Amino acid sequence: MTASEHRKAPPSLVSKDEASPCLDSDAYLFDIDGTLLNTQDLIHYRALNRAMRDVYGADTTIDGIAYHGKTDLGILKAALERVGVSDDVFATRLPAALDIVRHDVDQNAHAFAPKVCAAVPELLARLQSAGKLLGVASGNLEVVGWHKVESAGLRSFFSFGCFADRYENREDVFQRAVEEVQRRLRLEATVCFIGDTPSDIRAARHAGARVIAVATGIHKREDLLSHEPDFCVNSCAELVQIIAM
Ligand SMILES: [Mg+2]
Repeated sequence: MTASEHRKAPPSLVSKDEASPCLDSDAYLFDIDGTLLNTQDLIHYRALNRAMRDVYGADTTIDGIAYHGKTDLGILKAALERVGVSDDVFATRLPAALDIVRHDVDQNAHAFAPKVCAAVPELLARLQSAGKLLGVASGNLEVVGWHKVESAGLRSFFSFGCFADRYENREDVFQRAVEEVQRRLRLEATVCFIGDTPSDIRAARHAGARVIAVATGIHKREDLLSHEPDFCVNSCAELVQIIAM
């Protein structure tokens, strides 16, 4: 390459210097949907809709709710508020509704067909062999989240998971996940979340952790960058590339 060609070369999307604070973390906590995998089956969607119909008598769906980045509880609450279900009724019937979601997903889990996001198994294998603690931090209910991770063939990488069975807000799930890292490693352990939505970035900040945003969900890299994650990549393939540098 001549000097002038070199000057015209586009800057690499990945930079080890920029990423290295994140890649020195003691623990990595992965969001599921849009980060580890994407699902196209309607198993989770149908379970949430049946819970609203059978428990609240609400003839509605989660369509139109901005559910990316929301917890299952948050999705149900937003969809039911829209059809006039009060906070009191929502809370009183919630345990029965969550039982339906867990039951239906459990019954249909064999049909989960997740598409694993680019280079995710390679990234997890590299982090695992580097001795990092790996966990899942997701807005899914626990049964739902583990079924997805299991059907994607990724379960064996993770030591633990924190889910939204008791939390409406992602901030609370991520805070709980950081506490679990501290309990398993030490109080000063450094934590890096990996997620695909602005909600992941906000929740990681709230928990005092680092965050890498990946554009493998519905948000483009430019959208995610405007929320100022510590690092942002098009996919986990770029992280694998950096680690290998
Ligand atoms: Mg996600």
